[in-house]
Amino acid sequence: MKKWSLKVKLSLLYTFFTMLTVCISLGILLAFGNQELISSVQADLKEGIYESMDEIQAEKQELLVDKDFYDVEEGIYKSLLNDKGELLYGRIPYGFNSRIKPQDGQIKTTENEYGKWYTFTIRYPSQNSETLYVCGITSVTKEENAIRMMTAIAVVVLPLLAVLMGILGYGLSNRTLRPVRKITETVQQIQNDGDLSRRVGLGKGKDEIYQLSNTFDHMLEQLEDSFWREKQFTSDVSHELRTPITVILAQCDAMLSQENITGEQEKGIRMIEKKSREMAQMVSQLLFLSRADQGKQQLQKENLNISELTQMIAEEQQMIAQEKHIVIETEISQDIYAWIDESLYIRMLINLMANAIYYNKEPGWIKVSLKEEQDGVKGSVEDHGIGISQEALPHIWERFYRADTSRRDTERSGLGLSMVQWIVTAHKGHIQAQSKPGEGSCFTFWFPKK
Ligand code: ADP
Repeated sequence: MKKWSLKVKLSLLYTFFTMLTVCISLGILLAFGNQELISSVQADLKEGIYESMDEIQAEKQELLVDKDFYDVEEGIYKSLLNDKGELLYGRIPYGFNSRIKPQDGQIKTTENEYGKWYTFTIRYPSQNSETLYVCGITSVTKEENAIRMMTAIAVVVLPLLAVLMGILGYGLSNRTLRPVRKITETVQQIQNDGDLSRRVGLGKGKDEIYQLSNTFDHMLEQLEDSFWREKQFTSDVSHELRTPITVILAQCDAMLSQENITGEQEKGIRMIEKKSREMAQMVSQLLFLSRADQGKQQLQKENLNISELTQMIAEEQQMIAQEKHIVIETEISQDIYAWIDESLYIRMLINLMANAIYYNKEPGWIKVSLKEEQDGVKGSVEDHGIGISQEALPHIWERFYRADTSRRDTERSGLGLSMVQWIVTAHKGHIQAQSKPGEGSCFTFWFPKK
């Protein structure tokens, strides 16, 4: 029962109670109807016989039976019997072959293969020596058949009615629960794409579901507003931090160019310069992501020879890698063209390669590949570095996530891969990471050509 949807549960409940009401009403109706029918047949029979008494006259030793006595009125056959039940006058219905045992004022039921009858006998008050009885016989086969027919119809109609009620109930609950489905769909869509501008939008209505939907929409509005303010704040802060960092860096440059600084002072200034550059890098990534969140990050796509671009970046990175005795190998197919944003592609590849260098072993090895696929371009950056654990792997795309908690140096921001993922997704491509701790990692990306 727990696995069934509310729609199914409601329609089953609805069908069950409707059928229960119909069955009870039908049962009562059939039982009372049957009783009523029998009573009315018996009352008619008695009345017919009492009235027929006038059609018989007993004078002295002679019996005079009116010809009306032979008529069958309202299905009642009238007869005059002696005390042994032998027919003296009147008529007996066809098929009635039982012997009647006359008893004064008694209604009896007789049944055989031809049908079912009620017999009613009353003693005829005559001065004759012989005891006479007036007998009425009426068939109840027709009434019985009518009741049987009604029961049969009910047996056939009830299941059909149940199915109809089920369908109707299902349709009704489906319709009633449509707004609930709309709410669920909206929540799921927000879960999938994080788009807080979505609304359930059921409009005005007074029932509880409409109220729930409106409350939900109101909550989304407030959430969107506060998220927007938060993004704006991050963007503003990043923006504001850029100027002081630039000033610090310029100041460091100026101080380092002075001739009379001591070795100790130079060491200190270089440290400030290094940290300021890292901060500048983090601020730039933060600004990029907050602009992306606000939808301000536009793609400037052009049809580029990304084989050349990739080769160029790999060669540039080789210089940084050399300091750590890391060799960069390339396997790049010639002249692959794709519609991409050049600066974003450079950002993405530099980030992936910078990680491959940073998390590598010394001496180490990196391989950059690029090849054309049917309607896209597939590339990868593979290293034989420290690798990423299986638990950390799904989280590396999250902002500020750093898998290697032992390296608590401030050099790394934990923002690089979030940016990489945004760039690939913005190009309608995809990226995935495979890694084995201690053996290395491989980041594979795919871009559509157009
Ligand atoms: P970070 O600035 O910390 O490198 P990233 O977003 O670029 O931030 O990466 C997130 C985390 O993923 C890193 O902290 C690191 O633990 C892990 N990671 C990324 N690339 C690699 C790699 N090539 N080898 C091992 N770990 C990696």
